Formats: sequence, C-alpha cells, structure tokens
Amino acid sequence: MGKSRRLFGTNGIRGVVNKELTPEFAIRIAEAIGTYFKRGRILLGYDGRISNIMLANAVTSGLVSTGCDVYDAGMAPTPCIQYAVKNHEMDGGVMITASHNPAEYNGIKVMANDGVEIPREQELKIENMFFENEVFKASWDGVGQRHNLPRALGEYKEAIKKHIDPSAIKKRHLHVVVDAANGVGGLTTPYLLRELGCRVTTINANIDGTFPNRQPEPRPESLQDLATTVESVKADFGVAFDGDADRSIFVDEKGKVHWGDRTFALIEKNFLQTNPGAIIVTPVSSSQVVKDVAEKYDGKLTWTKVGSTIVSHTMKKLKAKLGGEENGGVFYGPHQPVRDGAMTVALVLHIMAKDDRALSRLLDELPRYYLEKDKIRCPNEQKPLVLRKLVAELESRKPETIDGLKLWFPDKSSILLRPSGTEPIYRFYAEAKTKERASMLVKEYKQKVQQQIIKS
Ligand code: MG
Repeated sequence: MGKSRRLFGTNGIRGVVNKELTPEFAIRIAEAIGTYFKRGRILLGYDGRISNIMLANAVTSGLVSTGCDVYDAGMAPTPCIQYAVKNHEMDGGVMITASHNPAEYNGIKVMANDGVEIPREQELKIENMFFENEVFKASWDGVGQRHNLPRALGEYKEAIKKHIDPSAIKKRHLHVVVDAANGVGGLTTPYLLRELGCRVTTINANIDGTFPNRQPEPRPESLQDLATTVESVKADFGVAFDGDADRSIFVDEKGKVHWGDRTFALIEKNFLQTNPGAIIVTPVSSSQVVKDVAEKYDGKLTWTKVGSTIVSHTMKKLKAKLGGEENGGVFYGPHQPVRDGAMTVALVLHIMAKDDRALSRLLDELPRYYLEKDKIRCPNEQKPLVLRKLVAELESRKPETIDGLKLWFPDKSSILLRPSGTEPIYRFYAEAKTKERASMLVKEYKQKVQQQIIKS
C-alpha cells in the first residue's frame, strides 16, 4: 500500500497480512480514522483470522492515540458489530475482517454511528489525512482508553428475534445444518437456531483462521460437504456463510445449492405479500427472478451499482426496508440496512413457519432462468469509450446504465455487460428461459463490444 492514493476498495481496506497489511500500517490508518471521529467512542470487532489480535491491537493503539475511546466487542460477525455500533450509540465502528477473501488476507472496515460503512466521500477524507499525515495526536493526558464490551453477540441474537415469530418457528422443529466456514458465523447462528427450537448440526463451526475445510467464499462448488450433510442427516435445509457471516447461501433438503438471488427472491416475495408497494433495492447484477417477483407482488424495484455499501446507502436514502444481492447478501432494513447472514436465516425460518412445505418446493415456485457468463479482454484506457459507444448504439432500447449496460428483452431474457474494476476485461452475464438463448445473447454482445474495441 502507498503506491496508489486509494486505500479503500469496495468493502474497506484489504491486503495480505504483513505484506500490505502490517501493524505499522494499521496504526497509521487507525490514527487517520481516529482523527476523523474526533475523540469519539469507537466500537471495535474482528473476525476469526489469525492476524485478528495483531491488527486489533495496532488499530486500538492508533485510535486511542487520537483521543478516541475503544470499546472492544471481540470476535463476532460483521453484522453483529454493525448492530452493536448502533445499539450502543457509538460514534463509529471498526471491523477487522477480509470477509470472503483467502486466509492470507485481512482488512479494515469503517462504520458510521448507524453501523453502515461510511460512504466513499468520507473514506476520501480518511485517505487524505493518512497520506498528508494530518492526524491528531492527543496530549499525554488526553489519550483514550480501551474497554471491553462483552455482550454484543447476545444482544445481536435478541435483536434478530424481534423481527420474526419465535413461537411459530419453534412449532416446526426444523433441523438445520450450519456451515460456518470455520469463521465467526459459528458464534451466533447455531445458538440462535437452538433458541428458536431448531435441531442444529454444524460443520466447520470451530474458529480456524487457516480455513482448513473450505474457502471462506461460499461458492456452489465449495459447499458439497454441506449438501451431503443435509442429505445424510435428513435436515430441512443447510446454510453456509462467508468468513464474516454477512452473506449466506442456502441448500435445500435435497442437497441442492441455491444461489443468493433465488433465496432473496423468496424473501422478497414473502416481504411484498405483507408490504405491497414497498421499495426493493438490488444491484443490476441480480437475476430476472428478483424483477419477476417485484412485478408480480407489487414491489418497486430500484437498481444500483454492484456493491453492498451502495445497496445500504441507497436503502437509507429511499427509506427502503429490503435489499439483496446475488452473492447471498440480504439487507433487512427494520433490523439494519446492511447484509446480515443470521438475519437472513431467521427470515427463511419465518417463511417456513408460515408455509409448511419444504424449502425446495418454496424455491421451485420461483421462475427459473439459465445464466451464461463470459469475458473478453479490453485495454483499461478503452473501457469508458467502448461503453459510451454501446450505450449510444443501443439507446432506442433504453438500457440501464447505472453500472455497465443492462438490457431486458420481452421474452424475459437479459444481458449485462460491465467493465471490470480491476482487470482489463469486460464481463458478460446473460439470463434467459433457455440455455441456448442465454448463450446466444452472450455471443451477440461479445461481438458488439469486440467491434467497438477494434474501432476505438
Ligand atoms: Mg462478508
């Protein structure tokens, strides 16, 4: 770090431990964060990675040196820390996590007093203080203190229960398998489920920062142990978290893995049935199924750029109560407008308590689409012009251009093309009722982009 003026990515600062993310760096960035919060009360939490204490101590030093008081909530899921920031009326929060990234990574997320990650403009302020070394150093007697805040996990579970019907859930005696990826999801959801009368089987539930059993990113190909376990113990469903348990991916009772936008569509349907006319916030990368449900059940869909922070801020701006991402992030506004794995599990339980059919049946009712993905190389400097030309070419079809270009067709197929933010490539995502139509769309739009690259 230091070569580029940008430190924060789409979800905070990320880097390989002791290469980019050293204790020295953590102290310096924490000094900038502390200066930004002006001697405030800062809640601190961390996930189960090996470097968690090393970085938590460095961040604590940096923060208290600027006169901030640090309230250490310990190891916890990111949404638990976000809830605690709001619940304890802190001035802000810092979470040490690299979410779904591989084991050698860690990261630092900064949250405002409502627990939502600070927006880009505020990150810029912190980055500027860091690079200009414009940090506040408290006098010797103005240095902040560190306190323990031990109750965050329990308070978080209780907060979730307020949004569901625990007695109805208890009556169903569901059996749930939890795959916590050896991350912090194991600290909350298995206990929450037991308190809700569920029988719980856990896999990968011990905290292990080497992630010995699967990558912390829940991908269908890495959830085979979960799928097999659900089938063999005859559970009602299984749920897998990412490393900091803000995202959740579900497996039905037959052992089938369902991608995030299908589970989200089920939650969306249930939500709209009791809240017709509500605003639903989702990135343009979400499936047509989310749009179908919004249309059928009277929801007002708002598309956003891809990124969880953007979904959160859009929800706040529009006072929306539900948001969701295709990767398994569900944002339930009445609890908090951030993605929250345990809250998502609770919402699924709530649905299953009202409708006693199996999860596979509930999900099978939703329209089905085939997804085709591809990419082509495009030099970084050509990306913006290529996009502008395509938007101009396709203007009569009224493309959605909030992030890349998306088109919907009358047969309910769609194409999304987006320049990658990090690599010299364009990505294509096509969805359609048949595999052939989806492949055809990818082929057609790859050609269109290719032509623009050549012409440019
Ligand atoms: Mg995460």
